[in-house]
Amino acid sequence: MNTTTSLVNHQVRLASRPVGEATRANWQFTTEPVPDAAQLADGEVLVKTLALSLDPAMRGWMNEGKSYIPPVGIGEVMRAGGIGVVVASKHPGFRPGEQVSAGLGVQEYARIGAAEAKRFGLFRIDPRLGTATQWLNVLGMPGMTGYFGLLDVGAPSAGETVVVSGAAGAVGQTVGQLAKIKGCRVVGIAGGPAKCEWVVHELGFDACIDYKAGPVRDGLKQHAPGGVDIYFDNVGGEILDAVLARINRKARIVICGAISQYNNTTPVQGPKNYLSLLVNRARMEGMVVFDYADRYPIAVAELAGYLKDGRMKSKEDVVEGGVAAFPETLARLFSGQNFGKLVLQVAHA
Ligand code: NAP
Repeated sequence: MNTTTSLVNHQVRLASRPVGEATRANWQFTTEPVPDAAQLADGEVLVKTLALSLDPAMRGWMNEGKSYIPPVGIGEVMRAGGIGVVVASKHPGFRPGEQVSAGLGVQEYARIGAAEAKRFGLFRIDPRLGTATQWLNVLGMPGMTGYFGLLDVGAPSAGETVVVSGAAGAVGQTVGQLAKIKGCRVVGIAGGPAKCEWVVHELGFDACIDYKAGPVRDGLKQHAPGGVDIYFDNVGGEILDAVLARINRKARIVICGAISQYNNTTPVQGPKNYLSLLVNRARMEGMVVFDYADRYPIAVAELAGYLKDGRMKSKEDVVEGGVAAFPETLARLFSGQNFGKLVLQVAHA
């Protein structure tokens, strides 16, 4: 086993709860010695972080209050999923050198015991199925969200029209491609011509509406003339209202996220057009990916198959800079500067 005592673990901790957008002032940068292998307790694994998943949900975890998961406490290392390499292990199931996916936190080394592994997961990744960054994207949490959100909650049938917002992002890219594979007509909604062009020409969506270029309702009239059967909502706000005005009878609205609302300093804007659900006998249902954890292996096997046979592509936006670059990199999600799944590279294998 490696001895790692001379190494320093750089960490990013939550210093204060933001009002509106998070800034650098909300974070505290700390260091700790990396434990020696001999210091690990039975069952513990020491993991060196290679890449971290940066997620819109992180903004919510910074807030006080009840949610589907407790907030990150002031002074705690910021919660983050990531891919790392085992550098020391007192766990019979993990050996040094193996690459794992785990709740590593925004830090260079994570000491993971049984409790952390149970809460945030710890599993070996199979490099034959996908690259490390694909394990944070299609084969990771965003891919699982798209898979179960679309298939379980959206319940698509071939020939139906699926609209997905945040189309060029992590969840959106899986949703749109999977809906195409299931025989649906797919219309994306994304910000800017480059993202729209990519989802249509590279990913095979039927059309994409650039919400920054004109009203979404006009785009829906043009590209979903027969109405919308499934709306996979990643953004909420005005775009949700525009889609609600165009839904079909028995439509399903999957409430996955509402990124347009996460930095609000005023209450979240709810849908004004919700009576469209009544008129159309439609339903709107929220989903949280962690509820499907028992079935992740099924989704991974199916999605890895599509990656392998070329029916699915993935795009990760990998930012170098290590944990020190975390605050500014996270902010990219809220300005649409990320193109694909946002990943922070912390070290190279
Ligand atoms: P992402 O789409 O890769 O990145 C966020 C994207 O949101 C940005 O690139 C930007 O794209 C768009 N955006 C930002 N501000 C916006 C605004 N005001 N209006 C419209 N679009 C805006 O992120 P992701 O990881 O895939 O997450 C997408 C959504 O899924 C988020 O709402 C997230 O919270 C949610 N989510 C939910 C679960 C769950 O279990 N329910 C799990 C994972 C993720 P454009 O350039 O196109 O604007």
